[in-house]
Order: sequence, then C-alpha cells, then structure tokens
Amino acid sequence: MVDVTGNDKGTVLIVEDDPVQMSILRAMLRKLGVASLAATTVAQARVLLKSPEIRTVMLDLQLGGEAGLDVLRSLEVGQTPHSLIFISGCDERTRAAAVRLADAQGVHVVGSLGKPVTLERVANLLETSPACAWRVLSKEGPEASVTDFVDALAMGHIVTEYQPKVSLVSGLPVGVEALARWRSPILGNIAPDIFIPLAEGAGYIRALTGVILETSLQACSRWRREFPNVSVAVNIAPSLVDQQLLDLVTSLLEETGVPAGSLILEITESSAVADSVSVSNVLTRLRIKGVQLSIDDFGTGHSTLVSLLKMPFSELKLDRLFVASSSADPDADRILRSLVHLARDMGLRTVAEGIETNEVRNRLQDYGCEVGQGWLWAPALKEDALKAWMDRMTPRSTSISDPKTQLPYVSNQEAATS
Ligand code: C2E
Ligand code: MG
Ligand code: MG
Repeated sequence: MVDVTGNDKGTVLIVEDDPVQMSILRAMLRKLGVASLAATTVAQARVLLKSPEIRTVMLDLQLGGEAGLDVLRSLEVGQTPHSLIFISGCDERTRAAAVRLADAQGVHVVGSLGKPVTLERVANLLETSPACAWRVLSKEGPEASVTDFVDALAMGHIVTEYQPKVSLVSGLPVGVEALARWRSPILGNIAPDIFIPLAEGAGYIRALTGVILETSLQACSRWRREFPNVSVAVNIAPSLVDQQLLDLVTSLLEETGVPAGSLILEITESSAVADSVSVSNVLTRLRIKGVQLSIDDFGTGHSTLVSLLKMPFSELKLDRLFVASSSADPDADRILRSLVHLARDMGLRTVAEGIETNEVRNRLQDYGCEVGQGWLWAPALKEDALKAWMDRMTPRSTSISDPKTQLPYVSNQEAATS
C-alpha cells in the first residue's frame, strides 16, 4: 500500500480506489519528481495523514461506496497543514461545491481534476508556490490586548511593508500596497487580521492609518527618485472617509512632494461606502485632487455593485480568496471574467490580488486584467528589500512609464530559475 519515492518537497497522498487511476496518477507524480503515498480507503487515508511529510492530498470524491468528503474531517486546522486536489468524474458544479466545503473547513484547495487526468493539469496544480501551498486558513497567533497595541504604536513596533503590484501587460512594477505589520519583540509577529479589528474596535484605527500614510508617502518620495511611476496604495477603513482624512492626505502630499496621482486609497467594499452621501462627498473631493481610489476586496459582497460603481473609484481590486477560488470553481471563474470586463467597460483599472500561480496570472491576463499582486512575485517587503526587488525587476535601459514597453514577463519563480 505504501511506497515513498523520496522527495524533499513533501509527499502527495493519493486517496483513490480505482487501481488503474491510482497507477496513472503515481506514474505522473514520479515523472514530475514528486513522492507519493497511496490509500484506497478513508481509514487508510486517516492513518497516513498522520505522516508529517504529507503536504498535498489528491482525493477521489467518489471513493467506492464511501464519500471521499469524509477524509476532509481528518484535515483539520491545527494539524499539519495540507493542500487538497480533488479528483472526480462529477460535474463541475458538484466539484465546486466540494471545494467550497473544504474551504469552509480551513483546508486550502489547490484545484480539482476532472477525469481523465492529464499530466499537464497535475503539473499546473502542483506548481503553486511552496509558501502558500501548505497554508491553512486560520487566524491562530499570539493573543494581544488593546494596551499592547497602543504601546506598540507608540514604540514604533507597528511598521509598514510594501507588496509590489506588477503590470500584467509589461511584467514591470507599477506600484506597491502598504501593509501594516506588528513586529513585537515580546509577542512575535501579530497578523493584521487580528490587530486591525482590534484597532478599529478600540478607536485606534485613525492613529494607525496616520502612521501608515505618513511612512508610505515618505518612502514613496524616496523611491520616486529612481522609480517615479511606482505608486503607493494605503488601506483606509470605510469609517475613516471624512473631512479629517481629506485634510491629512492634503497636508502629507504637500509635505512629501508626492503627486496626488501616485497615491491610491484602498477602501474596502462595504455598504457604509456605497450608501453614504458624506462619504461620496469626501471621495469626490479626493478624486478632484487627483488621488486614486480603489474598491478593495471586491467580490466579498457587502454592497450592491450599482451603488459602488456610482462612486468616483478609479480602480477595482479583486479579492484574493475570490481570485484563488477561480482555479477550482468554474462559477467563480466566470464571475471573475465578467467583473474584469465590466470594470474595463466602466473605465476602471482592475487589480487582482492573491495571485500565487502562473496559471491564475495567465488566465487574468487573458481576461484583460491590468495589474497583479501576490506571492507569485513577492510578499510585503521592507523598504530596502523592495528597492532591491524593483532594481532587479526594472531593466536599466527601459523607462517604466513607456506604455509601449512590452518586455517578456518575468515572475519571481522564473527569475529564480534563470
Ligand atoms: P488587503 O488590503 O486585501 O491586503 C492584501 C492581503 O493579501 C495582505 O494580507 C497580503 O499579505 C495578502 N496577500 C498578498 N498576496 C497574497 C497571496 O499571493 N496569497 C495570499 N494568500 N495572500 C496574499 P495582510 O497583510 O495579512 O493584510 C490583511 C488585511 O489587513 C488587508 O487586506 C487589509 O484589509 C488589512 N490591513 C493591512 N494593513 C492595513 C492598514 O494599514 N490599514 C487598514 N485599515 N487595514 C490594513
Ligand atoms: Mg488592500
Ligand atoms: Mg484586498
């Protein structure tokens, strides 16, 4: 039953009761240089899942009389993180529903394989970057209190890092997103998913945003000397869109000398934004100044599309979970494609976040999405690492403002192997 072919990238567990299909899959994995283990029943799979070397599970949804979905219960958050690939002769919608079920349990679904399985499709699905492939969707981390947060802000332990955004046409850097990071010498790293709601709940989100806006615009004024067309995007909680924000942005742009057009404010899709006249008033004034406005996390569905599109946004940022699920969920993929087309028709730039694989990047490129952001290129980087990254990605002889520049696309995966 068990055969390990030796590989330090982790082992794939195949859970499949059809012996022919099993041997085809194992032969394909051998060809790709990936180790595999085989289980033909749910019980065997549960035992093998205890092996720490298993990172990916290929699961047949129709496992004999047993439901393959039962294996999901053994892939719980908190155990060794696993990625999942479904194998199934079921129709697309049923497979997509299974993907959603796994997602809801915190298991990262890389994709699903219809039958017959092809080597190319297996290779594509396994191509995900190691950093993300073994991720589980959990919010585990150190506990932090409001007092810890206030101290951290005062002591400069909340820092700004920058994740690059890349043109899907030229492959060149076009901007960065500033992301708040809490680097505590005592508690360790605390995720934004934990401290942003904490700051919002305790009334400190304005103070945090002030710090991030100021450090990002100062950093932008430094890199503008070499990379004048690389913009900076800052996240703004919908509750902060008021006169005070307008005043702060105006004075920081003046102080740093960064042109308004190089600042993008990312505002999360929410009903508070879509339905408020005072929010619309501030957003319109910011746009008139030349500041760019982006609807963040679009696709997570808090508000109606129509009211949002009435606001003066210049960019639509497609949510990362939505982008990721489009590989395995054909309906999500259709919606993604339609959204890109709709945004283009409405004159909005589209940015897709959370791009982790070449497959997703290529698909979005085909749909006409203009900008990508994700671990395929780089995570959020400190300012000096970002500068080094931009140096590497920007050919010296090429002006990044030249729209005719059509350089061959280079991802960090490709750059690393060349
Ligand atoms: P966001 O604005 O949607 O930021 C993008 C998030 O996606 C970041 O998570 C980033 O690290 C993550 N990400 C980027 N590429 C990939 C990828 O390829 N795969 C995956 N799985 N994730 C990717 P992060 O830094 O944990 O931030 C989470 C959220 O916290 C942000 O989502 C934003 O809503 C909020 N946030 C972060 N900094 C600030 C801030 O300064 N102010 C406010 N109001 N919110 C912030
Ligand atoms: Mg954002
Ligand atoms: Mg987002």
